[in-house]
Amino acid sequence: MPRYDAVLIDLDETLFDFRRAGHEALEASFQAAGLALSDEWYRLYYATNAELWREVEEGKTSVTALRVERFRRYFSRLGLAIEPAAFAAGYEQRILSVTYHIEGAVEAVREIAGMAQVVVLTNGISHVQRARINRSPIAHLIRAVIVSEEAGVSKPDPGIFSLAAGFTDCRDRSRMLMIGDSLASDIAGGIAFGIDTCWYNPTAGSVADHVRPGYEVRHLSDLPAIVRG
Ligand SMILES: [Mg+2]
Repeated sequence: MPRYDAVLIDLDETLFDFRRAGHEALEASFQAAGLALSDEWYRLYYATNAELWREVEEGKTSVTALRVERFRRYFSRLGLAIEPAAFAAGYEQRILSVTYHIEGAVEAVREIAGMAQVVVLTNGISHVQRARINRSPIAHLIRAVIVSEEAGVSKPDPGIFSLAAGFTDCRDRSRMLMIGDSLASDIAGGIAFGIDTCWYNPTAGSVADHVRPGYEVRHLSDLPAIVRG
């Protein structure tokens, strides 16, 4: 019998390479507006976007509000007179049309799904996340996809973990594992919900003092052995 019966797993930067897809979508959106995306502009977008997602995690704003607000704030910082809502819609359309996987993601999910029930738990925009998953070979391997925008609550709030756990048959939290790349949302949230956690840490970053993952892996190919125990 495997060590875990249910596995909750993050999507962006854990299974999907969102950074690459996001960079391309942003570049194409600027191109459509007759502008070229510089490295400096990209870094500022990345920082502004991260700032908004942090505010969502802290419960200060909603995912739906973030969709336009991140571009409103970004263009205001750049001093560009671009209408944020239309730009946001074009960006989302572009980003949902590509799915790049992190190396080893499909193989790892396939192997894990042979041992445990897998639920994807992602802080994100519903139609974007669902379109990207539906195009991926992982789609038929997972029991459910929980997206924060439609859940109305985001990781690290234990509420969204409880919602995701409800899509599995597992009622014993000691047999449930959360896997993700974010200490602040995936690992802290899993700990708050009372389940074991595994930090996907490909760049060998250091652990924050107050968040201690139960396991840590550098490669997704290391995950099945942890689920197997
Ligand atoms: Mg992530």
